[in-house]
Amino acid sequence: MNLYYTSTRNSDVRVTASQAILSGLAPDGGLFVPESLPSLDVSFEQLKEMSYQETAYAVMKQFLTDFTEEELKSCIAKAYDSKFDTEEIAPLAKIDDTYYLELFHGATIAFKDMALSILPHLLTVSAGKNKVDKEIVILTATSGDTGKAAMAGFADVKGTRIIVFYPKDGVSRVQELQMVTQKGSNVDVVAIHGNFDHAQSGVKAMFEDKELARELEEAGYQFSSANSINIGRLVPQVVYYVYAYAKLLKYGEIQEGGQIDIVVPTGNFGNILAAYYAKRMGVSVHHLICASNQNKVLFDFFQTGVYDKNREFVLTSSPSMDILISSNLERLIHLIADEDAKKTRAFMERLKTSGSYEITAEMKEKLADFRAGYASEEDTAAAIRAVYEKTGYVMDPHTAVASHVCRSQKEESGSRKCVIASTASPFKFVKSVMDALGKGEEETDELELLPKLENISGVSMPGAVREILHARVLHTTECDADRMEDAVKKILKL
Ligand SMILES: *Cc1c(COP(=O)(O)O)cnc(C)c1O
Repeated sequence: MNLYYTSTRNSDVRVTASQAILSGLAPDGGLFVPESLPSLDVSFEQLKEMSYQETAYAVMKQFLTDFTEEELKSCIAKAYDSKFDTEEIAPLAKIDDTYYLELFHGATIAFKDMALSILPHLLTVSAGKNKVDKEIVILTATSGDTGKAAMAGFADVKGTRIIVFYPKDGVSRVQELQMVTQKGSNVDVVAIHGNFDHAQSGVKAMFEDKELARELEEAGYQFSSANSINIGRLVPQVVYYVYAYAKLLKYGEIQEGGQIDIVVPTGNFGNILAAYYAKRMGVSVHHLICASNQNKVLFDFFQTGVYDKNREFVLTSSPSMDILISSNLERLIHLIADEDAKKTRAFMERLKTSGSYEITAEMKEKLADFRAGYASEEDTAAAIRAVYEKTGYVMDPHTAVASHVCRSQKEESGSRKCVIASTASPFKFVKSVMDALGKGEEETDELELLPKLENISGVSMPGAVREILHARVLHTTECDADRMEDAVKKILKL
């Protein structure tokens, strides 16, 4: 059976998976969503014995129905290979009574690799299927991790170019170095004077600009997005939740049908939405717990039903979650509005004009699967310290936000198993981690802390970090937040 995708803002839109992947965003500015959420058609008895790649095929084929078996399997094989430093791809670490689903074993040691290793391949297959002869230009706004993971994924992939925008003072030193040293003849990166929301709004504006689209077309280019709004990002993220559940069964940690909670450190709402899709596909998840840092716009939303981005933007030690507009939430809004595109569109227009909206009581009732919590900067550091002191396990600040929220929900969750999406390696945020452990102070250069973290964690420095220590800086372009279009035109020589 073929699964089609519609827009959250216009129910007349109906496209195939490959078309949705190619466009990124729907023409009306909405997000593509499957017309119905598929179910798993293999049993957990079977899934228990599957490799990551086999699980990926079992899950993704349900969403990407216009890909042939050969096409999809080839994308999966190219993505989940020796770029990952473990054959398990996404190992599940049992620490104390909690499970950490480690999503940071890929090329850039953060969870974005899980989807961005496969997206370029899904995209080039999609281009072939739809007879696209233009060069695909990927525009991406990043709060740090997406940018590098996207550049690494797309570098030197034929028929593509990638331009990444990041907030100049909003990413860690390691993240910035990772980006500005990226090789590849089709890769550009621009530091903007502004925050992540400025970068994201700028990219969205360019996607919606018809005049710019025409200019690009004349020059032989077509925009696409690698941001988490692309369903080619979302679908691969469903895989590891299915995989983790099957692993828990296999190791006898739960019985068939046994329920788990999943806690996800959340920014743009992509990762937790994937967990929700996994639940809808048949994984026994009791609560999806949305963990925010001090930018707790989502926590407030789940408490009150009011989404309000009119608030102070705070820079935290978990910068990939420093977000006030969680784009993927629109997909959940669409679901709880009974897939009414007109209603969804009205909420999103209110968000754009006044910065806030309130969902109806009826819609709120449909959020019963979700819980939310947040961690202050002190809570985050305390979580890193507490888990380290008790178990020797060192986690990054994003994961620590979730770890704190997991603990704070213990009363309600009781003996239910808790799986935490562990989204980055501590080496990527070494300064914050060492500060939390009380070992960061005297050092001036955070890079000097890397070997120290190696010592105290007993984990050797990932190759991805070792690499940047000596790499040459290749990108130095900066621009004001309102000049992003000019930067793109200059890069593409329009
Ligand atoms: C992107 C990111 C997040 C947030 O994920 P969303 O899908 O945007 O909610 C959390 N942690 C890390 C390390 C990230 O890179």
